[in-house]
Amino acid sequence: MERETLIARLREGNRRYLRGETFGDVSAAVRRETAEHGQHPGAIVIACSDSRVIPEAVFSAGIGELFVIRVAGNVLDNHQLGSIEYAAAHLHCPLILVLGHTGCGAVAAALTGGGEGYIQYITDEILRAVGEERDPDRACCLNVAHAVETIRAAFREHPEIPSAELTICGAVYDIASGEVRWLEE
Ligand SMILES: [Zn+2]
Repeated sequence: MERETLIARLREGNRRYLRGETFGDVSAAVRRETAEHGQHPGAIVIACSDSRVIPEAVFSAGIGELFVIRVAGNVLDNHQLGSIEYAAAHLHCPLILVLGHTGCGAVAAALTGGGEGYIQYITDEILRAVGEERDPDRACCLNVAHAVETIRAAFREHPEIPSAELTICGAVYDIASGEVRWLEE
C-alpha cells in the first residue's frame, strides 16, 4: 500500500476513534485469517507504555494492522531498533511512526532531575533528546524528533531496507482529547 494511503488510514482511524464510532477488527475471522496467512502490518508504531495510550485503539486498528513497540518515554535502544528492523526488513512494513503523548511521566521525570535505578536509562535518553528545553510539551516533541532521527540514522544504509521506500514520521497523542497531532510526514 502507498505510504500516503497508509498515513491517511491512520488519520482516518484516529478520526473514527475521536467520534467513538468503530474499533478495529478483532473478530474470530480476522484472527484465523492472520494466523493462517501471516501478518502484514501497515505501520510500525513506537509508543509509550502509558496505560492511557493504546495505539490500536487510537488508530481504530485491529489484529495484524499495527506492529507496536511500547516502552516508557517512547525511547529507542538496540532492542527496539531490532524490532523495527525485523518489521521493516522482513514484514516489509513501509511506515514508521513515533508516537509521543501529552502528560508523559517519563518526560516529566527527565525534566525534573531524572530517574533512579533502571529508570535513569530512560530519562538519560530523554535528556539527550531535549537538551536545555524544560517545557513539557516542547520537550515531548523534541523527544519524538530525536527518536525519528535515531531511526533514520540506524537504517540509512541498510542492505535490506531501501531508505527511499521507508517513511519515518512523528506525532503526539493528546491524552485528554484523543487527538493525534502529526509533527512531520
Ligand atoms: Zn509516557
